[in-house]
Amino acid sequence: MTSAALKPGSVIGIFGGGQLGRMLAQAATQLGYKTHIYDVFANTPAGRVSEYHTAAQYDDLLAIENFAKACDVITYEFENIPSAAILEAGKHAPIFPSAKALEISHDRFTEKTFLRDQANVPVIDFFKIETMEELSHALSVFDGPCVLKTRRFGYDGKGQIKINNPKEIKSGFARLGGADLIAEKFAPFVREFSIIAARDQNGEIACYPITENVHKDHRLHTSVAPAPDPQNISEEAHAITHRILKAFEYVGVMGIEFFEMSDGRLIVNEIAPRVHNSGHWTQDAGCTDQFEQHIRALAGLPLGSPKPKHTVRMTNLIGDEIKQAGELAKQAQTFVHDYDKQDIRPGRKMGHVNEIIG
Ligand code: AMP
Repeated sequence: MTSAALKPGSVIGIFGGGQLGRMLAQAATQLGYKTHIYDVFANTPAGRVSEYHTAAQYDDLLAIENFAKACDVITYEFENIPSAAILEAGKHAPIFPSAKALEISHDRFTEKTFLRDQANVPVIDFFKIETMEELSHALSVFDGPCVLKTRRFGYDGKGQIKINNPKEIKSGFARLGGADLIAEKFAPFVREFSIIAARDQNGEIACYPITENVHKDHRLHTSVAPAPDPQNISEEAHAITHRILKAFEYVGVMGIEFFEMSDGRLIVNEIAPRVHNSGHWTQDAGCTDQFEQHIRALAGLPLGSPKPKHTVRMTNLIGDEIKQAGELAKQAQTFVHDYDKQDIRPGRKMGHVNEIIG
């Protein structure tokens, strides 16, 4: 079935007013659409570049109804939106990616179970943990260290802790609140990479090349793409990506994070049902950027080419690093993206820089 494309001037609603919402709004504007941001704050990076803005709580179902009725299609820039808000909005306008993708990715346990059992892709061994006895059992089955994580609301390494041996069970369990946890076997990977991919409303899939990611202080620091591929894992990673997008009957851009093992085995760590920080390099690589790709998918347009003309290194500008933006922008082949956040705070993602390196 071929879906009709959204007409220019149509309104795309975006839950979340941060930098991802901002860059989605900028891409939508370029394609001739208007955007409407929904955020709890009135003055947001995305709101400042959008035609319309609603400032209301996510449990204000009347505000959500009014917002949704004013939009032709709705998307979101972060996954921790309460399901009730999405269900309410979905009564009045189509939502991409679907409520199902959002619901499953809310919880690491349901996400890993779905990936393993429905998408048939490799994930690390894991157990649902409610008691210290269950954690002790998991550790003995793994026969090595594990990573204990909260099932919900974890990001940038928050809500997780490595448990090296049985002696650390009690303190680790207590530190994470002692309920609704997941224990994953520790994966001694040789590198972390991601794939950004999109699926359109007719089921066509476009995958970007593998992106090598380096983290600092549990936060993404740099991404390089297309990444070198000494173990020839690219084809397998793309095949896995296809299986995931199909299993979700997904529409939009997804970020998929992988671990690459020393023997070339791949493990899917997690998915993000949205545009992803490790896909920011696409903005200056000479291919369709991930934000435009996402808008194309939800607007019913065909996807653009995911083939970059350049190799690009993206570096996040965290906190005070944004003050280097002016100097960085003087360099040829270097492109600064400033999120126009009003307060510089340590650890806050303030912008990023894309540098063409090949
Ligand atoms: P996550 O929030 O699941 O993306 O985890 C954040 C980071 O912790 C990952 O990017 C990895 O560097 C590390 N990590 C998470 N899970 C594991 C695991 N099972 N084994 C080894 N490292 C992990």
